[in-house]
Amino acid sequence: MATAHRSGFVNIIGRPNVGKSTLMNALVGERMSIITNKPQTTRHRIIGIVSDDDYQVVFSDTPGFIKDPSYSMQESMNQFVSGTFVDGDVMVLVVDVNEEYDNDNPLFNRLSKVKVPLFLVLNKIDLVDEAALLNKIVEWKDKANFKEVIPISALHKTQTETLFQSILSYLPEGPVYYPKEQFTDRPERFFVSEIIREKLLTNYYQEIPYACEVVVDEFKVDPNPKKNLVRIHATIYAGRKSQKNIIIGKKGASIKQLGIDARKGIEAFLEKKVYLELFVKVRDNWRNDDKMLKHFGYKH
Ligand code: GDP
Ligand code: MG
Repeated sequence: MATAHRSGFVNIIGRPNVGKSTLMNALVGERMSIITNKPQTTRHRIIGIVSDDDYQVVFSDTPGFIKDPSYSMQESMNQFVSGTFVDGDVMVLVVDVNEEYDNDNPLFNRLSKVKVPLFLVLNKIDLVDEAALLNKIVEWKDKANFKEVIPISALHKTQTETLFQSILSYLPEGPVYYPKEQFTDRPERFFVSEIIREKLLTNYYQEIPYACEVVVDEFKVDPNPKKNLVRIHATIYAGRKSQKNIIIGKKGASIKQLGIDARKGIEAFLEKKVYLELFVKVRDNWRNDDKMLKHFGYKH
């Protein structure tokens, strides 16, 4: 007899910068989230699907929880995280093995209410020696009702397969939720806007990338398959005129470089040739503007 099909939803939560997106990429095996060393790069909830003949695991990567939200956008980001406390089959808390967490951190109170199996993933073990790691495991294992405590290095894919198999063993028998060849619920154009945003993060300083949103206005695949070409128009929305000027740069030099870097990233992702046109618009203070937040998909 064939083995039963297992499936379920696995939520990955944790502070910003602990390696949630890196872990998800390691598990899903696709370049799905922006990986940078800056916190708050993941603004939306993103799912990554891993399927085989006898299982389907749907991971969801959440923005890190922001303690004191200072923008309406950040409140929406926190709501994506709160949503993960009510659904799912397994919850995975990722922590950076080098970071301290006080026992009175409100997170632990919330974790005590989690009804599904809770995993603790101690990430970045490549940065500590074995003795320190053992101390950390002892320190952590009673902080909450963890079913499993698993040390990993998401970056080096150390123990990530073990983690995956262990998660799988906690999933119930269940149906196929998504077509087996699908690896995310987001369309290609979403990844295009994420790649452009990633290049904003690497090419500009300080608050510029955080003050901007990217929208793909047009995504046209050339009808001639021999050309293997996509034409893309994208708009970068800045929060102020001065930010727009910085993005464009002297004689357009900065946006030109941004366009080149983004195009290369998009071509690698789509495995197609890309014509990319970038526009910059100003939407004053969009991060506090309900209409713009709806337009950008932060609110419904
Ligand atoms: P997120 O905010 O929780 O999604 O964190 P990211 O996945 O964006 O990772 C934040 C930073 O930590 C990036 O610079 C990653 O390269 C780095 N990182 C993630 N996992 C590891 C790891 O296992 N070891 C080390 N040394 N760095 C890691
Ligand atoms: Mg992330």
